[in-house]
Amino acid sequence: MPDFTSSIEDYWQLRLGNCREALEANNFEVFEARDAAEAREIVFETILPVTGARTISWGDSETLYATGLLQALKAHPDLEVLETFDTEAPRDEIIERRRQALLVDLFITGTNALTETGKLVNLDMMGNRVAAIAFGPKNVVILVGRNKTVLDEEEGRHRIMNYAAPVNARRCGKNTPCAEEGYCTDCDSPERICNTWVITEKSFPKGRIKVVLINEELGV
Ligand code: SF4
Repeated sequence: MPDFTSSIEDYWQLRLGNCREALEANNFEVFEARDAAEAREIVFETILPVTGARTISWGDSETLYATGLLQALKAHPDLEVLETFDTEAPRDEIIERRRQALLVDLFITGTNALTETGKLVNLDMMGNRVAAIAFGPKNVVILVGRNKTVLDEEEGRHRIMNYAAPVNARRCGKNTPCAEEGYCTDCDSPERICNTWVITEKSFPKGRIKVVLINEELGV
């Protein structure tokens, strides 16, 4: 009898392989990991030394939190890690730190969707995460669980508006229609979390954005 689990793994290996090819054609640097632990190892032991990064920050990402990478980076004696999610800090201070995070050597985050044509599709509330992906930090690392892969931009937008955003609205305790209903109503809520779309078609300069494809379900 065929092994069901390995068939699923093989299927995802194929899908991620397609994404890798497309991403590389779009000038992203690509790494592949079996799971979150291997993704952490790749960032820590391969990407970090090559970039020579000394200052680091990150954008909100459940995928990143699942790798345990943040704790490892914070414990590194030679790195300055700019904390922009400090719940003890005043709001003005957090905004200022997020502005400073646009100048770090290495910015780490996830993506809301990755198309098989090799594009990153992201939607942000404040814009600090998508701003850093587009410009500022010298290097950007995007951690991507296999569940983020979509056929094209349209499917990516649909996934984000009707799955990722409602889940994230609930996660962040936002009082939005999607948090109640489970789908997007293109609301005018003061707590709306969807304000800026960024589609990253190619990495410029080549290799600035490093994508770690993870053959595991991670993040939303
Ligand atoms: S626009 Fe409003 S309803 Fe739609 S996903 Fe965003 S926060 Fe939710």
